[in-house]
Amino acid sequence: MSKGLSKTICALHPGRLAAARCPQCADFYCPECITEHEGKMICASCLSNEADVARKERTKRHFPFWAVLQLAVALILCWLAFYYVSGFLSDLPDEFHDGTIWE
Ligand SMILES: [Zn+2]
Ligand SMILES: [Zn+2]
Repeated sequence: MSKGLSKTICALHPGRLAAARCPQCADFYCPECITEHEGKMICASCLSNEADVARKERTKRHFPFWAVLQLAVALILCWLAFYYVSGFLSDLPDEFHDGTIWE
């Protein structure tokens, strides 16, 4: 490794010297191709991959939570509706069912 980084060329630009190595894919890149992300140097393609993974994990985490919450709210509303309707019906006087209350 006596030649060092200065003799390494960018993986995307064969004519340019590499400035840093991406820890993710272990390729060398020029300053234009590599960027700093959360305190570490990372190449553009690995950065977009990470963003994709982060986006997928976000939707993965949140989707079941909202689905379960909506299901629970729907069940509670249904239960409350049936509870009050059945309570209302059982409170009705017997005459209502006979039809005599309207006379
Ligand atoms: Zn990379
Ligand atoms: Zn480059």
